[in-house]
Amino acid sequence: MHPFFGQSIEYFKGVGPQRAETLNKELQIFTFGDLLQHYPFRHEDRSRFYSVKELLPNLPYVQLIGEFRSFKTIGIGRKARLVGTFADETGTIEMVWFKGIQWIQKNLSVGVKYIAFGKATLYKGKFNIAHPELEIQTKKNTKGGYLQPIYHSTEKMKKKGMESKFFSKAMKVLLAEAVKHIEETLPNSLIRQFGFIDKKTAVVAMHFPRTSQQLLQAQNRMKFEELFFVQLRLIKLKIARMEKFKGAGLNKSDLLNDFYEKHLPFELTEAQKRVIKEIYADFRSGQQMNRLVQGDVGSGKTMVAFLAMLIAIGSGYQCAFMAPTEILAEQHFKGLREQAHLVGIHIARLTGSTPKSERRLIHEGLMSGVISMLVGTHALLEDKVKFKNLGFAVIDEQHRFGVAQRARLWTKTKDFYPHVLIMTATPIPRTLAMTFYGDLDISVIDELPLGRKPIKTRHYRDNKRLEMFGFVEKEIEKGYQAYIVYPLIEESATLDYKNLMDGYEGISRRFQNYQLSIVHGKMKAEDKEWEMQRFARGETKIMVATTVIEVGVNIPNATIMVIENAERFGLSQLHQLRGRVGRGSDQSYCILMTGLKLSTEARTRLKTMVDTNDGFKIAEIDLELRGPGDLMGTRQSGALELLVSDLVKDGEILKMARITARDIMSDDPELSKEENRPIKKHIDSFNQDVVNWGRIS
Ligand code: ADP
Ligand code: MG
Repeated sequence: MHPFFGQSIEYFKGVGPQRAETLNKELQIFTFGDLLQHYPFRHEDRSRFYSVKELLPNLPYVQLIGEFRSFKTIGIGRKARLVGTFADETGTIEMVWFKGIQWIQKNLSVGVKYIAFGKATLYKGKFNIAHPELEIQTKKNTKGGYLQPIYHSTEKMKKKGMESKFFSKAMKVLLAEAVKHIEETLPNSLIRQFGFIDKKTAVVAMHFPRTSQQLLQAQNRMKFEELFFVQLRLIKLKIARMEKFKGAGLNKSDLLNDFYEKHLPFELTEAQKRVIKEIYADFRSGQQMNRLVQGDVGSGKTMVAFLAMLIAIGSGYQCAFMAPTEILAEQHFKGLREQAHLVGIHIARLTGSTPKSERRLIHEGLMSGVISMLVGTHALLEDKVKFKNLGFAVIDEQHRFGVAQRARLWTKTKDFYPHVLIMTATPIPRTLAMTFYGDLDISVIDELPLGRKPIKTRHYRDNKRLEMFGFVEKEIEKGYQAYIVYPLIEESATLDYKNLMDGYEGISRRFQNYQLSIVHGKMKAEDKEWEMQRFARGETKIMVATTVIEVGVNIPNATIMVIENAERFGLSQLHQLRGRVGRGSDQSYCILMTGLKLSTEARTRLKTMVDTNDGFKIAEIDLELRGPGDLMGTRQSGALELLVSDLVKDGEILKMARITARDIMSDDPELSKEENRPIKKHIDSFNQDVVNWGRIS
């Protein structure tokens, strides 16, 4: 990149040290290049003038030329409003102010030509504009002809005199010099193929487009470019990994076959079979596997992982299975141990609460190779934990682990990297998966085991609480069990605990004939465990809990999930909680309890839950509601700050970018062909400049 773009923003005309500091802090603008990439978030159409007669409802912001005939104040005190009658040759319209009335009236004059800009709304059959922007008409501002850029600014920046106007002025100065140094980043062939405008024109038009048509063209091109380079990098990473990172060749399926024929407790679904085949193909390839398995709650991911581990162990390697919480690790350990013992596999468990003495034995067993399967939490990642020959690692519920933790697994063996299988029950919309996990292969288990009945979901407001209790009682009488879950959110923890305890009391009074369990975050691990066990054995009929049960238990006889204050949960969390029931063949229910008043967004979430059980559909809607950052967790989204593209809306462009990047990389992996020079040059310039590289790629 040209050194021009690397200059510190402090030295930009009209900025200086103080404003520079604010720009650093508020918008992460450090250099001239950063400033150039501070694109407007919208444009206002100042390209033409409307006459009063032309006004229609639903127009965007419009501008009019005319003069005030009169002003009058209507109402008194806080209810007072100022109304000015504004006229052009075709008619009159009212301009209305509710605030700053005196000041405004003092500064406006009757009989002077103004340009008024604002949103015209129809009120009682007449158009008016509330709080219009007004400028005295001059030759210059009458010419118009531009779409005016509106830049994002913050309160702190406004205090330092840096509002939208500041940026549009600065951009004009900056662009005059910058255009000389902007280089094309895409090959000519691509530009022709997609009919893109060139980079210089695009950057200028992002700020100062001549027409809305040109603005769209510019945005399209910049979005493509941004997503294309992200994809290119991901694909490069993947190719590099496949070349460099040999995986253990795992090709002995005897142990798997043995288990399959004698001990498999159920028929696998077609989806499970398909995913196991995909994994087996990776195992045999000689290259390291990095595969993400997405499958809704209850789709049977654990069995897939177990069968894959049998291939690895049968081929003479050790396996690790990592779960996000102790409770989940414990449950997986017990489940896996039962199966493992059937085929004589030595299995161990390692979590934060494993006592020292036991730990030492495990360390030894792993080093000597006596232990073939290790189940645990991220305690597995500690440096002290060394394997004789770890060949395969499973990570359950990946969204709770960072990418860095995944990488730490790779240091566990010397000669090759273990194959990695990541499992998630939080389906990720395709656009996100392509971007966040673009360097992974993806498998999908899109089928539930046979005989599962779809969970019926209902939404009750608090005034139907008695009905809900009645329903729960009827089901308990039939022999089933229920969860009643309360939110526990850190910021309001004290209140949430009180809420839980009040709820528990109410439930105790209502269900005096039954034993109840309660589990929450403040309890000791062994007390929680004890309560869980009582519930699992069917001794208690209702489990009152905070969200600690979100992951963990698998109790087929529990068929009712009541979620209190359901409006406070996010969609994916609600879906996860609901997944705790519906684990057996009997009809299960999910009841969402909420207050009477709900925000529009909360209503959308609840309606979505009632309407569908499809995790992927839910994930798509969640993405629309919350945006990619929230969905993927801030830690991970920080690595991917997109400046112009929007993963919610730009799915089509993303697909195009990914296919294009893939084609180019398979045709010219080193990017050494003449036509790919612009790409290579662009990537190299990022590699030199670490700060920008991290931000943009
Ligand atoms: P998840 O994908 O949510 O991790 P699990 O692996 O916990 O799902 O499986 C949920 C339940 O379904 C378990 O009790 C498991 O034994 C059972 N299961 C898994 N696969 C099948 C199958 N093909 N047929 C019947 N039951 C299955
Ligand atoms: Mg699971």
